[in-house]
Amino acid sequence: MADKRDYYEVLGVDKNADKKTIKKAYRKLAMKYHPDVNKDDPDAEEKFKELSEAYGVLSDDDKRQRYDQFGHAGMEGFSQEDIFNNINFEDIFRGFSFGGSQGGFGSIFEDLFGGGFGGSPRNAYAGRDLMQTIEVTLEEVASGVTKDLDIRHQKSCPHCHGSRAEPGSDVKTCTNCNGSGQVRQVQNTPLGQFSTVSACPQCNGEGKIIETPCSECKGRGLTPTTNKISIPIPAGVETGSKLRVSGEGDDGINGAPPGDLYITIKVLPHDLFMRDGQHLYYDLPISYVQACLGSEVEVPTIDGSSATVKIPAGTQSGTTFKLRGEGIKHVNWSGKGNLYVKTHVVVPKKLSDKQKEILEEFASVSGEEISHVKQGFFDKVKESLK
Ligand SMILES: [Zn+2]
Ligand SMILES: [Zn+2]
Repeated sequence: MADKRDYYEVLGVDKNADKKTIKKAYRKLAMKYHPDVNKDDPDAEEKFKELSEAYGVLSDDDKRQRYDQFGHAGMEGFSQEDIFNNINFEDIFRGFSFGGSQGGFGSIFEDLFGGGFGGSPRNAYAGRDLMQTIEVTLEEVASGVTKDLDIRHQKSCPHCHGSRAEPGSDVKTCTNCNGSGQVRQVQNTPLGQFSTVSACPQCNGEGKIIETPCSECKGRGLTPTTNKISIPIPAGVETGSKLRVSGEGDDGINGAPPGDLYITIKVLPHDLFMRDGQHLYYDLPISYVQACLGSEVEVPTIDGSSATVKIPAGTQSGTTFKLRGEGIKHVNWSGKGNLYVKTHVVVPKKLSDKQKEILEEFASVSGEEISHVKQGFFDKVKESLK
């Protein structure tokens, strides 16, 4: 099942192809690969089966929708008979004869309908997959974290152990199919007689009839269960990263495998750091004096400690310094990103008289012409407001 080809590809049609186009494509290919006209090619029968399966799915609205949504995984609940039974072979092969070998034609259908899908019993449905979102902080992304989650999923009923029958009650063998779950129907077609096997309508293909459904799960076989599970989240995940927790979806029915739990990661925004992939960005305010004279400044790092940035004398606002390896680990590789520290020079909003005096002196020493209103003017305005 793992390397099944895409049904559209098998039939050589577009994903949006309408029913007529799909039928035409199948008809053409089915003629070509019909085992009766390819007696020397042992692969033809397989090819014919593959085509018929693709057509059986794509010609049925419900099955096609499921297939479009879930791919081959969506088909696991259907048996081969379910799919082949959609096909009106009589209609497809109308007017054609395959070298008059009607007996061979019939036997091929016997063959075709004899098999099952990987031996999984009819009415065995794989458990549903579940989705859940987990929020993580940037610190947790940097270090990796294990999160405990309460998962509410449908698990096998402990009362009936998933059998759906009240323990001790009678489970009768279906008399219609004698417990096989299948009924054989013989169809007469212009090309000869052939028989198909389909699910027994009496027992829904189960071969047994439950007299008393389980009182706990009302015969569903599953019951809502909340389990605490620990989910290890590797360092380096990003918003939208997905983790699969195998088997933690709903349980399957009649021995079919359970679904999986899919975790989607959401990384919360950080107060100090901006993140871009593996790299972190930090905005560092420095004073005019630090920028002019140079300085050593401590910056926080994502691991909770700090690192020193050497600001050389004459640093301009907007200069970026790289701290190698202080970023986030890549989720798949061992390497870490960098922390980029971007300076911006902060201009003080308020100065003391002394500070102003010194700055004016600084300006005059620098030969700088400062065109501003005289200090006395402000004092006058302030005075007038009192
Ligand atoms: Zn039960
Ligand atoms: Zn039956």
